Amino acid sequence: METRTLLIRYDEIGLKGRNRKHFENQLVKNIRYALRGIQNIKINKIHGRILGFVNLADADKCIDYLNFVPGIASISIGHSMEPDFDKIAKLGISLIQTKLQDLGQLKFCVRTRRSNKSFPSTSKEFNFEVGSRIMETLSSKGLSVDINRADFVLEVEIGPQKTIVFDNRVPGLKGLPVGSSGQVLSLLSGGIDSPVSTFKLMTRGCRVHSIFFDNRTFLGRGGYDKVIRLANILNRYQGGGKLFVIPFQDIQVAIRDHCHDMNRVVLYRRMMYRISNVLAELNNCHALVTGESVGQVASQTLKNLAAVSCVTQMSVFRPLIGMNKHEIIKDAKKIGTFDISIEAQPDCCSVFMPDHPTTRSKIKYLESDERLFPWEELMAQALASVEIINLDELNSRV
Ligand code: ATP
Ligand code: MG
Repeated sequence: METRTLLIRYDEIGLKGRNRKHFENQLVKNIRYALRGIQNIKINKIHGRILGFVNLADADKCIDYLNFVPGIASISIGHSMEPDFDKIAKLGISLIQTKLQDLGQLKFCVRTRRSNKSFPSTSKEFNFEVGSRIMETLSSKGLSVDINRADFVLEVEIGPQKTIVFDNRVPGLKGLPVGSSGQVLSLLSGGIDSPVSTFKLMTRGCRVHSIFFDNRTFLGRGGYDKVIRLANILNRYQGGGKLFVIPFQDIQVAIRDHCHDMNRVVLYRRMMYRISNVLAELNNCHALVTGESVGQVASQTLKNLAAVSCVTQMSVFRPLIGMNKHEIIKDAKKIGTFDISIEAQPDCCSVFMPDHPTTRSKIKYLESDERLFPWEELMAQALASVEIINLDELNSRV
């Protein structure tokens, strides 16, 4: 059976020093997990590269799966062969020929990288030997050499054990492998922003669990179903994620009935942060993540953001803080959450929305509002009613 070699390049791991092994091993583990459904695949770590040996019929499918693995800079599908000028030139000719027939003319070059320095030819000599053999056959058919503006690059990597020849590079997700930086808890609503902020932390090496505040009593099940679908898409980038669903209606009703109208949204948010803090600690998560961005809506002014974060000692990460909405939408489309996010489903923050929400909360007024209802008791009740969804199990049921 014909086989191919997957050449997987690291992204930021390449910059790491002594702890590099830890990141490499995590990435190999994640790649093995992502490709667990591929039969007879072998994954090896060799000299700064991860190599996969697969049947030709599975190679494209592997790329589809690897597109969901943070920490990869790029992937090539190549051929493992002996470092032999004639054999490599022959492969180059067959790859170039089909393109040349379609286009009539083509500029090309050979690029060699040697990690096996004991190999007798230098990279330049290798380029020349293979390139001139290809030219002998194809120069009369419209092929020319152009090192700087090549339409076709034949790449050769000469490693200590394997030489791999390829003509393609598929970009990866970049960043760090999930599991190399610990766990965080992301406040996931059904909107456009929070799925993007959740994803961003995954590409920083964190396993991200999510928490959703649900007001089914007033809004129906639509928001819940939507968040489950979003969490499920996001979990494809990591595996092992959990979604915590907290019933929020009693807290919202208490705030509506006892506190100043203008403070409602910020008071909701403070309760969300407090509850998230408790769940994060219980589940070994070391920071909270939100999709807030300065000035986007009334609740996200500098004063309101500060009035919300101060209820928790935990770090609050807001990876979208300096991004504009167009950039966020572009990312949401890229990760595959946008189409679900724009389905019309109100979020619980819009329940009992006052006409004039405050844009400059004062902490002392928020605290005096909070003295008017039993928030600690309501918080304990909400936490006791948490629904925990294991997203991997959900995936296998879908
Ligand atoms: P998004 O598109 O993420 O909903 P948004 O611009 O609509 O963001 P807000 O509704 O003000 O912003 O919410 C700000 C952040 O608060 C969200 O990004 C999310 O992290 C968190 N959040 C809001 N509502 C909920 C909810 N029901 N459950 C969990 N987190 C929430
Ligand atoms: Mg929202």
